[in-house]
Order: sequence, then C-alpha cells, then structure tokens
Amino acid sequence: MPSASPTNSVASSFRSKGTVRTLKMRILGATLIFFRGKGAMLNLDVSYLNLLMASAPYRLVMRADDGRELRSFLFKDEDPGQEVRAVERRVLLETLASRLPQNTINFSSRLKSIRKHDSGGSLLELEDGGCLRAKIVIGCDGVRSPIAKWMGFSEPRYVGHCAFRGLGVYPGGHPHKSKVNYIYGRGIRAGFVPISPTKVYWFICFNSASPGPKITDASLLKQEAFNLVRSWPAELLDVIQNTPDDVVIKTPLVDRWLWPGLTPSASTNGVVVVGDAWHPMTPNLGQGACCALEDSVVLVKKLAGAMQGGQDLVDAALRDYSQERWARIFPLCARSNLVGSLLQWDNPLVCAFRNNIMVPKLVRLGPFLEHTKFECEVLEPMTSR
Ligand SMILES: Cc1cc2nc3c(=O)[nH]c(=O)nc-3n(C[C@H](O)[C@H](O)[C@H](O)COP(=O)(O)OP(=O)(O)OC[C@H]3O[C@@H](n4cnc5c(N)ncnc54)[C@H](O)[C@@H]3O)c2cc1C
Repeated sequence: MPSASPTNSVASSFRSKGTVRTLKMRILGATLIFFRGKGAMLNLDVSYLNLLMASAPYRLVMRADDGRELRSFLFKDEDPGQEVRAVERRVLLETLASRLPQNTINFSSRLKSIRKHDSGGSLLELEDGGCLRAKIVIGCDGVRSPIAKWMGFSEPRYVGHCAFRGLGVYPGGHPHKSKVNYIYGRGIRAGFVPISPTKVYWFICFNSASPGPKITDASLLKQEAFNLVRSWPAELLDVIQNTPDDVVIKTPLVDRWLWPGLTPSASTNGVVVVGDAWHPMTPNLGQGACCALEDSVVLVKKLAGAMQGGQDLVDAALRDYSQERWARIFPLCARSNLVGSLLQWDNPLVCAFRNNIMVPKLVRLGPFLEHTKFECEVLEPMTSR
C-alpha cells in the first residue's frame, strides 16, 4: 500500500513523524508504456531506472489485421514534444523499492480489513493475523482496493472489452527495432513494443459481452490469446509464441468515473486512495500507471509540508490532493473510455473509414497525446537511505 518516492526532505519529514510501512503483495510481469510530453514527466530521477530503450527514437507503425501498413512515422517527426518509454513493471517497482529505507516494505502482507481506531487513526487487520495502527493510510491497493470499498466507492464498471498481455522473451536477442506497433481489426486490436534487447511486450484488446470465466491454466490463456489473432501478421504471432505461458494475463477492462457529488472524496479521516484504487481507467491512453505515479508525487509533496503541523493540516493536505488530482483524473478517465469505444468498433463500414481515412489522414499525434503533458512539482533525488 502506501507507496511514493520520497525525497530527502520529504522522506525525513515522514520519518521524523513515525514509521512508514508499505504493504506489498506481488509484482505482475507486465509492462507499462509511458507516453509522455518531453520534460513533463515526474522528476523521479529516471537515470536510475533501467529504461533500456529510453534514448532510441521510437517509430509508431499502424497496420490493418491483414498486415497492410496504414501509417508510420517517427515520434520526433510528428511531434518533437513527445516520446515513449516502455518499462517493465517489475523493473519500475524494484527500482522504486530500492530507494526506500530498508525494512520499510512488508511483502505478502494482505490487508483483510480496515476500521477507525477508537483513540484516533486507523486499524489495519492483516490476513496473516497481524494488526497495524496507522495515523495516515495511503491505499494504493489497485482496482479491487479493499480500502476504497471501505470508503464507500462503488465497484469499478466493466466496459465491454478484455485484454490479454504478455512478454515475449528472446534470450539471443529479438529482431524488432524501436517501434510501437498497433494492429487494428474489427472489435479487436493488438500491439507490441520491444522493451529491452531481449523482451517484447504485447497486448490484445477484444470485445466481450462479459469478462467470462476466470482461467487459471496459463497455457490455455496463451492459446486463447493466440487463437484470437491467428491470421494476423506473423511478427505478432512470433512474439506471442515466444512468451512463457506463465506471464500471460487476461484482464477485464474496467473504470470508475468520479462524478462530483456522487462519488466519495479520495480522503477521509486520514485515509486516502491513490492510483487504480481511486480512479481505475481503461488503458486506451496508456495513462493509468502514469497517473498513479503523479498522484504519489503530488500527495507526498502536500503531506510533507503538513506533517510538521497537526491533524487539521494533514486533513487539509489530503483534501487539497483530492481536489487537485480530481481535475486531472476525471477528464482522462472519460476520454480513455471514449477512445476505447472508438478503437473497438466492429462495424465493417466504420472500420473501413478508420483504416482508410481516420488513421492515415485525420489523426495527429500532438493533439492526441496532449494529455501526457503534465508538469509535476520537482522532487529532489534522495541521497541517503
Ligand atoms: C491491459 C492494460 C494495459 C495497461 N497499459 C498501461 C500503459 O501502457 N501505461 C500506463 O501508464 N498504464 C497502463 N495500464 C494501467 C496500469 O496497469 C495501472 O493503472 C497501474 O498498475 C495502477 O497502479 P496501482 O499501483 O494503483 O495499482 P496496481 O498496479 O494494481 O498495484 C496494486 C498493488 O496492491 C496490492 N494489493 C491488492 N490488494 C491488496 C491487499 N488486500 N492487501 C495488500 N496489498 C494489496 C497488489 O498486489 C498490487 O501489488 C494498463 C492496464 C491494463 C489492464
């Protein structure tokens, strides 16, 4: 749960006011693509992140499901203000974790319940029988967050599409250049992008009236994914075939729109939600994890100042965080949902319009990725542990 990238001053401010504990369950083997406005990302000292493809000039290639190229361009030619960084989730999390003081993270500590403590703060009950009392709880426990549920948030809403994701592994090196590849079919689309000299991330997003049964047999999942695109370009099939069974995951896509007046606030009585726990959004703009990181930076900055004062100041900081972040999150959730509906079209005429007119002639990268230009406040790098 509580997670952030404390800076020197921020970290010491937190530590001087008590212990920071982070509960962590597991690290999924997926990848995040960060579309970002240049210079506009978090000041997370990315030099220590293993962004292997970071400096390569990425090309975006869009194709129809029969392999026909619809459009291809270098990001820097279409919009010099944009770039792509594809980061393996494991690398990102391990890197962030490595900057925290030792023993701050309790691995495999599953939260069972949370409630207000009679004499202030919150009481967290863990599934292993342990208990934690906390002055401030930062719920960063994902889309099925028990903390958000306790705060009165509704279940996220299924949007009618599911996604398969995986990581193709090529121990001897893969043949792909620094390209983000998108392939559009009817009611189904796929993509793949190299994230290191030996790994290629891929996804398939497809329409499905319901999320369907949960499949636990990993090889079945991979087979199901493969069957969806078996007549599609060979490069995609090769990446799927080079994916170990156990890294393929299927996710029903969901979101939650934070309607003003109807949705609970992101914070109450020293408990606050961050990332997907607060604002699950569909992945169509590639912004969910970016926003979770932005949340963390904004929250940590506000809390660091307030921790020197009393509970009133802390509550005010949490309210301030909720309001500031709502203004960014709400439109993104809605836009991502809309973009997903358009991309998942299955009507043949509409798909022909998309492939022959919209993608090649109408869509411009700059305006489409305008939302990535978010300026976070500067965090100084942490120098001591
Ligand atoms: C198909 C797909 C593609 C995506 N692509 C992108 C992309 O390209 N770019 C991008 O920015 N975003 C992308 N996203 C979104 C991104 O994955 C999420 O927004 C991001 O992971 C949210 O981070 P989080 O820390 O809030 O939640 P999570 O990453 O879900 O982390 C939550 C953590 O809480 C733990 N947890 C859960 N329950 C408990 C409990 N009871 N007790 C203790 N711990 C618990 C979990 O084990 C997990 O470690 C994509 C999402 C999907 C589904």
